[in-house]
Amino acid sequence: MSTEFDILQTAKGGGRRARLELPHQTVETPVFMPVGTAGAVKAVPQETLEALGAQIILGNTYHLYLRPGHEAIRRLGGLHRFMSWPRALLTDSGGFQVFSLSDLRKVTDEGVQFRSHLDGSSHFFTPEHAMEVQIALAADIAMAFDECTEYPADRARAEESLRLTMAWARRSLDYFGAHRHEVVWCEEPEERTQLLFGIVQGGMFADLRRACAEQLVEMEFDGYAIGGLSVGEPRELTLEMIGEVLPLLPADKPRYVMGVGYPDEIELYARMGVDMMDCVLPTRAARHGLLFTSEGRVNIKNARYAEDQGPPDPACDCPVCRRYSRAYLRHLMQAGEALSGALNTIHNLAYYLGIMRRVRESMVAENPAPRPS
Ligand SMILES: [Zn+2]
Repeated sequence: MSTEFDILQTAKGGGRRARLELPHQTVETPVFMPVGTAGAVKAVPQETLEALGAQIILGNTYHLYLRPGHEAIRRLGGLHRFMSWPRALLTDSGGFQVFSLSDLRKVTDEGVQFRSHLDGSSHFFTPEHAMEVQIALAADIAMAFDECTEYPADRARAEESLRLTMAWARRSLDYFGAHRHEVVWCEEPEERTQLLFGIVQGGMFADLRRACAEQLVEMEFDGYAIGGLSVGEPRELTLEMIGEVLPLLPADKPRYVMGVGYPDEIELYARMGVDMMDCVLPTRAARHGLLFTSEGRVNIKNARYAEDQGPPDPACDCPVCRRYSRAYLRHLMQAGEALSGALNTIHNLAYYLGIMRRVRESMVAENPAPRPS
């Protein structure tokens, strides 16, 4: 099945504006995807995400598998229906959370044995099982099962981890190819269904990253992600790895850098030709009182805002900035009001989504589409 990905404009530096047609939404890229870990973007209702212009959000396979369980979500009509989200969804592979959250992991060629961080129960994930879970969740985009190589990792460790990721990519693809039409919302075998993206790993070794990208491209995934970044390495290294991999990925398929980044980073990567990004930063930082604004970072807990009647960001037209003052947001935080996390998160998401919107608009302006003669 071919990926419906139309490139509308290309810009100097490699950036491109495109349209990715997914079963539930045509996504304008470059796009930022808010993270909805357990079927919710923490503290923000779905109708608000829609109003902010979120086109696609993430669900975490590991969390949803443990609670409420992928079979329950399948019986409830899939993740879109369960959480009442009509636009696009992407589920991660579960690999990153298995390696970062669970206890007592045991990794073999077959898969990974782990204990739930919720109740200590024992589970075994294989690439086939990770695919089965994601098919049950029924997002628009699923991710191949991978091992996220930790940082720092020496060469031998990165090579071994990559060997596993490559074998698991092949098995993910094979299982997915045989079962991709089993998603609840896909009624006919010819119908458009889920896409599967491969994930480039290789630690911080440029040649391993390149070798991984080349092999994944040969396997013909619907799109390609660069994973294992923002795991503690310096930013220059993140940038270097993205720069090594991007030119090797097919220009006519979507490219996704996972788990990045700060506002200036997502803009930079979009201008290099990254089409999709996700990050917990705007939502997690918001709950700790950190706002991203056109004037830089604002720590709303700071006493200097106690009587500041100005909006969180004078240049932002989000519902929070239109209505509430810095003084009020600071008070909510001091008082431990639940509204605090909600309002801070709504602003930060508006800010991140606004960056991507401006990048898309700038590409139209820089390189207007030819007028029909
Ligand atoms: Zn705002």
